[in-house]
Amino acid sequence: MASRYQAPRGTFDVLPDQARARARVEATAAGILARAGYESIQTPSFEDTDLFERGVGRSTDIVRKEMFTFEDKGGRSLTLRPEGTAPICRAYLEHGMHKLAQPVKLSYVGPFFRHERPQAGRYRQFHQIGLECIGTASPLADAEAIMLLSDLLGELGVPGVELHLGSLGSLDSRKAYLDELKAHLHAHEGDLSADVRERIDVNPLRAFDSDHEGTRGVMASAPTIVDALEGEDGEHFAEVRAQLDAAGIAYVIDPTLVRGLDYYTRTIFSFVCDALGAQSEVGGGGRYDGLIEQLGGPATPAVGWAVGIERILLALDEEEAAAGRDGFIAVGDPGQRQRAMAIAVELRNAGLAVEVDLAGRGMKGQLKHADRIGARQVLILEADGSAQLRDMTTGEQRVADTGNLVDEMTGGEA
Ligand code: ATP
Ligand code: MG
Repeated sequence: MASRYQAPRGTFDVLPDQARARARVEATAAGILARAGYESIQTPSFEDTDLFERGVGRSTDIVRKEMFTFEDKGGRSLTLRPEGTAPICRAYLEHGMHKLAQPVKLSYVGPFFRHERPQAGRYRQFHQIGLECIGTASPLADAEAIMLLSDLLGELGVPGVELHLGSLGSLDSRKAYLDELKAHLHAHEGDLSADVRERIDVNPLRAFDSDHEGTRGVMASAPTIVDALEGEDGEHFAEVRAQLDAAGIAYVIDPTLVRGLDYYTRTIFSFVCDALGAQSEVGGGGRYDGLIEQLGGPATPAVGWAVGIERILLALDEEEAAAGRDGFIAVGDPGQRQRAMAIAVELRNAGLAVEVDLAGRGMKGQLKHADRIGARQVLILEADGSAQLRDMTTGEQRVADTGNLVDEMTGGEA
């Protein structure tokens, strides 16, 4: 039957078969992040539009083209969150977390929204797992954050992952570099895409990100910021690298790395995965020492990352097998249904996964269904009050002790 309604463009339903693989990704991340002392935070699905305009940056693709913005009935402009960092920094300030022991280490998982052209690995509602380590400038924090994402992808078994690492320097030292870069771009304006040309003076770094052939040619000879790093910026980057080297984490220095958000300073990184094709980034992040001040708070250094759950699943390309059931309670006679439900509740309370027939099947149909849902045992209730226990792997059947069903079903191991 053709359905009259479909999920909106760029969105999808997570059906049970896919939900299991997702649950494994989320549980793996929760374990890794909790063991490193990250605590979970949840912020609303929408925020004041201004938070993202200020926090993500007006010159970014996200703010220029990708936000789902709407007006509420009170005339306020709201936006479905396109990313998690600005909202978490907002929460950090709103709840006075700068007064806590620093750094404050927060992690999150949930849906994000960007109005993009849907394609494999790119949706309008997608899900990220992320962390923010707020309140320290230490290069150890950058390295630890990177190591945690590396661990997560490793433990999940994401194949062919490569870590790209770069540094944007601090906001001050970056200015000198940006002037140099702008001069280079102006000198080659004729070869640039219109999009890049229009933004030379607003966001020249984005030129490194362009797919446009002429632009790529111009960028091949452009000065790079990694080469221009000086003083404390250079030392900071060297320490991040030394820490990663000590931890045995492989990376490539990528002087062309830029990220789609304006707030990054110093370390930036991206985990790419060749299995992903065009949307090759599985996750990434960086240091954003200027953001909290930008949002009206005290100068507060911080570093964080986000990884796309759909891109992880795409790269893994595997489904999690259904968990199966400990048991199924079949009734030989419809009069036993209430008793079956009572026994199922008792067994569930004892920790077993047990189902009863809810569809009025005959005995043959019940056994078939028990097999379909992967039940290891079937308890068959007879009209005279006795019961049989059938082992679904061997097909053996024996009389069950109805006074002690939990032990019967677990072999006394419950
Ligand atoms: P891309 O270059 O692929 O657009 P991005 O730089 O916009 O990525 P971030 O803002 O850093 O991505 O988001 C972090 C992660 O979130 C990405 O690495 C990716 O895994 C995921 N992600 C971003 N946008 C989408 C989307 N539209 N659909 C699915 N996942 C996404
Ligand atoms: Mg993007």
